[in-house]
Amino acid sequence: MTSQALSRSEASPAGQVTVGPRGAARLRRGHPWIYRSDVLSVAGAEPGAWVAVLDPSGNMLGTALYSSASEIALRMLSDKDAGTHPWPGLLRRRLADAIAWRAQVVGAAQAYRVVFSEADFLPGLVIDRFNDVLSLQVLTQGMDGDAVRAIVLEELQRHFSPAGIVERVDERIRELEHLPPRTPGLLAGTKADTVFTLNGVRFQYAGLSGQKTGAFLDQRENYAAAARYAHGDALDVCCYQGGFALHLAAVCEQVTGVDSSRPALEVAERNAALNGRELEWIEANAFDLLKDYAAGGRQFDTIVLDPPAFAKSRKAVPTALRGYKELNLRALKMLRPGGLLVSCSCSYHVSESEFLEMLAQAALDARRQLRVLERRTQALDHPVLLTVPETQYLKCIVAWVR
Ligand code: SAH
Repeated sequence: MTSQALSRSEASPAGQVTVGPRGAARLRRGHPWIYRSDVLSVAGAEPGAWVAVLDPSGNMLGTALYSSASEIALRMLSDKDAGTHPWPGLLRRRLADAIAWRAQVVGAAQAYRVVFSEADFLPGLVIDRFNDVLSLQVLTQGMDGDAVRAIVLEELQRHFSPAGIVERVDERIRELEHLPPRTPGLLAGTKADTVFTLNGVRFQYAGLSGQKTGAFLDQRENYAAAARYAHGDALDVCCYQGGFALHLAAVCEQVTGVDSSRPALEVAERNAALNGRELEWIEANAFDLLKDYAAGGRQFDTIVLDPPAFAKSRKAVPTALRGYKELNLRALKMLRPGGLLVSCSCSYHVSESEFLEMLAQAALDARRQLRVLERRTQALDHPVLLTVPETQYLKCIVAWVR
């Protein structure tokens, strides 16, 4: 159904969706989403179709990809270009733009996000590069059609000549989008596993294993920032496969990584071996372990905190802030004077100012002072659009502790 809708829509949008004043106002503010509650009527639009978006007076507001299932009914492709470059042909141009942006911002990095959905004006499409293997994720009906997939593969082959292109499948998202189930697998080439280098540190990538491997690419620049100041005894809390820990190992005397996931730590251990390093990996709940360490008088010179997103909604923010504060408070109590705290939050719903306020309160409670060295966010290959606040989610505060 989706592919049919897309192959039909060669020159002009296949369907019209009329949106109410609140939806139109949102577009004027530069935001690319229209919620279902702001849709007045849908005419002739199949799931995933490229549609014209109209205001109640029939004025054209732009074109969008339509979802019959998501609460976000329309994801705008913007009014620019869309007239002269109909979907899905417009994809080629947007992909080329996304790739050109990376050429400017990633330097010699071998692993980075090539396409980041709305932030690259390609809503619902995420593509990561891990050296010679590319990984693709489709998150919406609009990006799932055969015509779209064919163009994406063709362009990726042309620009990167990868040894393999794998598809990562998020079953929950496919269900929510009413998309048929798909098995993850190789879409092109023969290679799904590889080794890639970030800032000179080697990591393995296994494109087809159930457990996600690779790295949190959004932290690439923050890894390097942490390594600029890290020293002495270091602790990486919520270390996953060792992203920060392995960067710290190059500059610290000893490094301990803590995570509650055993499979993640097994990959971390293999990553350490790849780099000829020995680190200590501990499988534990970070809250419990930090409590035990504090009770035992353990001290560190460098602590990284990179927990999962504690706030999945605006409502969850107060609870999330309490969680962040507890972790940061415990870490601050364990840091020696002159130590380094690298404190991250990937919760979009927690703003940078709320996060800094939490950190200030934690420092007051711990009777420590924090001097901010760097206020960081996600790496530049995860672009931030000023009118789309959802595109900026990562906070990473690097601070000197007195
Ligand atoms: N710092 C990592 C990314 C961390 S992602 C990197 O740069 O690659 C968050 C991690 O927190 C996941 O690996 C998850 O397993 C772990 N985690 C979640 N809850 C935890 C808890 N209560 N205690 C310890 N680890 C936890």
